[in-house]
Formats: sequence, structure tokens, C-alpha cells
Amino acid sequence: MLELDTLDIKTIREDFPILKREVNGKPLVYLDNGATTQKPKAVIDAILNYYTDMNSNVHRGVHYLSQISTDAFEVTRRKVQEFINAKHDYEIIITKGTTESINLVASCYGQKFISEGDEVIISAMEHHSNIVPWQMLCEAKGATLKVIPMSEAGELDMDVYKSYLNHRTKIVSVNYVSNALGTINPVREIIRLAHENNTPVLLDAAQAVQHIKIDVQELDVDFLVFSGHKMYGPTGVGVLYGKEEWLNKMPPYQGGGDMIKDVTFEKTTYNELPFKFEAGTPNIEAGIALNAAIDYINELGIDNIKKYEDDLLAYATERLLEIDGLRIIGTAKEKSSVISFVVDGTHPYDIGVLLDKLGIAVRTGHHCAQPVMEQFHIPGTVRASLAVYNTKDEVDALVAGVKRAVAMLV
Ligand code: PLP
Repeated sequence: MLELDTLDIKTIREDFPILKREVNGKPLVYLDNGATTQKPKAVIDAILNYYTDMNSNVHRGVHYLSQISTDAFEVTRRKVQEFINAKHDYEIIITKGTTESINLVASCYGQKFISEGDEVIISAMEHHSNIVPWQMLCEAKGATLKVIPMSEAGELDMDVYKSYLNHRTKIVSVNYVSNALGTINPVREIIRLAHENNTPVLLDAAQAVQHIKIDVQELDVDFLVFSGHKMYGPTGVGVLYGKEEWLNKMPPYQGGGDMIKDVTFEKTTYNELPFKFEAGTPNIEAGIALNAAIDYINELGIDNIKKYEDDLLAYATERLLEIDGLRIIGTAKEKSSVISFVVDGTHPYDIGVLLDKLGIAVRTGHHCAQPVMEQFHIPGTVRASLAVYNTKDEVDALVAGVKRAVAMLV
């Protein structure tokens, strides 16, 4: 039996003001959480409170407001540290988001450790932001990008992965959960095998950190990246976790304020971690409000969230498969919160537009994972992605909406 009562979803929904609104005269059914989640009031209040009560630049003023905003910003760093169980708070670099975090590693790690003839391993199910930075690096350095293939179910071919690892492999960068398919990758095994080859691993946890408990020390992962806005936090803030040993060996990313110790025209010395990688004024209010988002997840309990969402995913999968001609793209055994599908004789875009008329928000297209669509020979999918505030009733609304759309289109 499906259990959907681990959390009090009615109360949880009350925390998200936007869920009360209508779209096209219908109650909003928001199923585009893989793109970005909605924000609880605590996060919205934290942003408002920052501008109402403490607006000031961080890390540079002796005055009161600067000190309290710096303190609040640094509280977030320690909260992130606890959340992912990093060993040190200075291993947490605050960035703009997942994309910037990956670009930072590709650029700084790449500059130091990757040369002509080296190899970088990614997978066939990466988001563009975990493809293009490595492609750019490989082009600049004369290195080779190797892509772990996946099966029709959307599972990585671990035998091919093993065969790729060799003395030229300088980094492995894969997602924990695929945004296009929902596959949960066997990250422990990926890391273990890479480490046997003395190769560090970057995990793109943009679609994982809001659904699955992550302990970076237990995983022994070298770099972990994610975005605030996909975990009930604000846009414009994200995280790069890096093991101290790697971060210390890497050159800085951007030059500017905050990342320096001393500047002369002859020679500049760089600040210590984490500031070496945090040039310029950060997105302060977003950084501060990320703390409230993590508190929110902690209050609900990430394991409760996972259990609730897993049950809802199973329910949604079962219900959607009732629809004639509907095919789920991505049928891995281990999945999280994402259902991508196509329906015979329809274009995903048309289904998305008709669902929107019913107040149902889904994403359609290639989901920034064009190679995935190429492998399945489709132009794109309709993607419903779940968050903790979604309900069975909303899944039922989606199923009814797709049925209606299909009846109009086929
Ligand atoms: N990686 C994955 C798996 C994603 O799903 C996304 C966004 O959808 C990103 C990276 C990029 O995240 P952002 O646009 O927040 O930088």
C-alpha cells in the first residue's frame, strides 16, 4: 500500500503562499520543481528581513550592520556544512548556483591538473552545465571527454565506466540524480572506483540535495555542487563543497575584492579558504535566506521528505501509465521525484500548453539535456517533477489534464 501520510502536507502547503494562487482561473498545480521550487514564507521573510533590517555589505565593514549581515551570511555557511556534514566550514564556497560551481571546478581544477592527453569522464545523462564547462576545458587543454553510456532504462553502464578509468583520467563529474530522467546514479560505486584510480569525483547534486540525505564525508566525494533555488531557497545562490586538500591546491577563480590578502601592482597574494573563491560582493540576501531554506528542510526531515516523495512518485507513475500511448522516459530501478514522458501522436510542447490552460505547470522540452533526448530519438518530454508540497490530488489533476490534452491532440 502506498503511504502518503508521513508528513502533514496540508500544513506544509500553508507555508507556501504562492500555492494559494490561481493560474488561468484554476488552482495552481505546480509540478515544475526540478526547474525551481516554490519558497516557504520563512525564506521570503528572511529576504524581506535582510533588506528591512540589516542591509549592508559583508566581510568588509566595522560598523554594526555590516557585522550582523556578515554573521548571518556566515551562519548559512555553517548550516550548509552541517547539512552535508562537511568537515570544515571553509570547505563551503558560496556561489551563484550549480552552474557557477561546476564552472569554477572545471576552470580552477582544470587549470592546475589537466593537460594535453588527459581525460575527463562525465555521463550520458548530464545537464548541459555538467557537459559544456568540461567540453570547453578539454578543447582548451587538448584533453578528451569520455561519456559513460546509459541503457534504455536510463541507467549508467558501469562496465564501460570501469573500462574508462586509467592513468589519464583526471576527474569524474556526474550527477547524483538526473533532471531529465529522475535516475539516481550509483554514486558510491562511482566514487569508490574513481578513488581506486586516484581520481577525484564531482557530484552534481542539483536534483538530489532536496530529496536525499547527503553526507560528503561518508560519500568521500571530492566536490559536491547544488543550487539554493531548487531546495526551497532563493535564486542566485548555490554551493560548492570541496575537500580542503583540493581547494587549497587550486588557483582562484575570479579576481577582485574579498579573494585577496594583499594587492600591489607587482604581486597579489590570495585570501585563505573559503574567500579565495568568493570574489566580489555575493548575493547576500540569498545567502542569508538559504539558511531558512535548510532550516525548513531540517524541520520536515529529509528522510521524511524522501519517503513522502517516493510514495508520490510511485503513485504518479502508476496513474500516468493508465494513459494509452504514454511512455515514461527513464525507468531506472532507483528514481527520485521526476517523471518524464511522451505520448504517441503528440508533441510534448502541445501537452504542456494545454496543461497550463488548466493551471498545471510542467516543463516540456529537452530539460537542458539534449544528448538524453537524442539517445531516445525524441524532441523532448513532458516532465512532472515533485516537491514535498505536492499531493495525490495534484497528481490526479495532472493525469486528468494529460488525458484531456491527448483527447484534443490525437
Ligand atoms: N545540474 C542539474 C542536474 C540540474 O537539474 C540543473 C538545473 O536544472 C543544473 C545543473 C543547473 O542549475 P542552475 O541553473 O541552478 O545553475
